[in-house]
Amino acid sequence: MKTYFRLLSFAKPIEKFAIPYVITTIFAVVFSTLNLALLAPLLQTLFFGKNIGHTTIASLGVRPSILHLMAAFKYYVDYMIISYGSWGALKFVCATIVISVFLGNVFRYYSQRVMEDMRVHTLRNLRNKVFDSVMNLHLGFFSNERKGDIISKIASDVQVVQFTVTGTLQVVFKEPLTLIFYMVLLFSISAKLTFYSLLVVPVSAFIISRIVKRLKAQAVASQQSYGNMISYLDEALSGIKIIKAFNATDFIKKRFSSENQSYSKIVRSMARRQQMASPVSEFFGVTMVACIVLYGGYLVLNNRSPLSAPDFITYIAIFSQVTRPAKAISDSFSTIHSGIAAGERVLALIDEKPLIVDSPNAVAISGFNESIEFKQVSFAYQEKEVLSEVNLKIPKGKTIALVGPSGGGKSTLMDLIPRFMEPQSGEILVDGKNIQALTVDSLRALMGIVNQESILFNDTIFNNIAFGKTDATKEQVENAARIANAHNFIVETEEGYETNIGDRGTKLSGGQRQRICIARAVLNNPPIMLLDEATSALDTESEKLVQDALNNLMKNRTSLIIAHRLSTIQNADLIIVLESGKIVEKGNHLELINHNGLYRKLIDMQTFSA
Ligand code: ADP
Ligand code: MG
Repeated sequence: MKTYFRLLSFAKPIEKFAIPYVITTIFAVVFSTLNLALLAPLLQTLFFGKNIGHTTIASLGVRPSILHLMAAFKYYVDYMIISYGSWGALKFVCATIVISVFLGNVFRYYSQRVMEDMRVHTLRNLRNKVFDSVMNLHLGFFSNERKGDIISKIASDVQVVQFTVTGTLQVVFKEPLTLIFYMVLLFSISAKLTFYSLLVVPVSAFIISRIVKRLKAQAVASQQSYGNMISYLDEALSGIKIIKAFNATDFIKKRFSSENQSYSKIVRSMARRQQMASPVSEFFGVTMVACIVLYGGYLVLNNRSPLSAPDFITYIAIFSQVTRPAKAISDSFSTIHSGIAAGERVLALIDEKPLIVDSPNAVAISGFNESIEFKQVSFAYQEKEVLSEVNLKIPKGKTIALVGPSGGGKSTLMDLIPRFMEPQSGEILVDGKNIQALTVDSLRALMGIVNQESILFNDTIFNNIAFGKTDATKEQVENAARIANAHNFIVETEEGYETNIGDRGTKLSGGQRQRICIARAVLNNPPIMLLDEATSALDTESEKLVQDALNNLMKNRTSLIIAHRLSTIQNADLIIVLESGKIVEKGNHLELINHNGLYRKLIDMQTFSA
């Protein structure tokens, strides 16, 4: 229930929809019920119109109250017959029915429109909210979560919420109203009959509740399974080349198809349960009608009925209508479970707290003037310690290189500077200020980052370089591209800067992609550059081009470079050798060569293999 109301809160401002909806619905219900209420007088007119007389205006004397609605209609029809004759009354009743059907449907149309507006509005809010909160989450969240699961929550679960939770709203507002209206009519015709027939309600409610009981667990399972499928799809699409190269298509197909199969199985069994609710309630509804026909008919046949025949027929006609809202209510009970389950998944994503947030009194840092400093910094992913008590100072304007065996913690150390992760102990200072006391945005604005993988988006070259900077001019972008050694190849492409580079930049070579990434970093003109193996994915020739680009990039900046090929960092002001999370050596190239330690060993290995 809590989940339901929270989901509803996304409909804010709900009054904007609820008030017009309730009003139009009331009118729709009144007009469409009126039809049926007019049935009795109509039948009366048709069959008994001539020998009326037992209800004269005089005999009705007192004006009927709302509880005697039927009597009221009869009163007016009788009044008509007396005033205009049977034919006149018949015309009048028919005209009224047509008008009330028309009005009833007009109002119903408007009430549905309002409901649809509200549904769309709610969904838009929910989708935006969940996307925003996912974007705000810390990086660590994404390494523990399957991407496909997140995608399916935003894409499919939100949709499920739409069709069930907001769908039930319609039921919640409208059907009870209809039901009450019908009940008033039924009670006004015959309280006794109505009372007996309602005894069936608890029985059918009990049976339906048994049927839908397991639906929630199944709904959760089905949504998880769907998330898995999307994950497989995502992995298969992004790894299609490798899958083909390793002849793994069969393996991948099997994996997908077995997940697909178990998903289909859950969905099938859910659908069976859900669909059971409707025939069960319909069966009980019709059984009720049959019992009433039997009992009422018995009374009528034996002339012991307090009801006249037309009243009785009207009663049955109205009663048969009761089953419709009753069925709608029980149907929505059977589908709401998937909505609630989906809603819970979506809300869990919304409630996920980003671990890295600005502290309440965080200040913005506007420039970089002195140094970046690590003091006794230790870091662990889960249990495993990756950095232990690292001390390091990066003065402004210097180029610092991080080298060491793979898995030594170089990338981890670098990721701590823009606060992608938080160290377990120790502190990192920028210009003497702990980075935890700075706003994340201002801190990251000081840094340009180029990684080994060139992360590009399916867009034009221009937009990839200007990425996120809507005010970047053509000159700025071209300048950045020149510095990154990218301008020449860009102008040679078909549409120059307006060329679309394809999904993740697949239409470009590795070196070209990397130079676009560098241009992107240059455009921001940040004082600090963080380069993590920016050239290691490249062949020697494009490495040279990219290295030149990087040298341009690092000019007049403070840089921290992780380099796989040690020849590229020989000119660094300081080289730091990191092994198993500890700094084992530091100094410039010559010092370290003379030291004859790990660095020397690494150099020898590379010269040997080269
Ligand atoms: P390097 O860049 O020096 O090759 P990394 O900093 O990437 O090394 O990794 C250091 C260690 O941390 C490795 O042993 C690796 O297994 C582990 N590691 C890296 N990223 C994660 C992660 N997201 N979750 C858990 N362990 C990780
Ligand atoms: Mg690394």
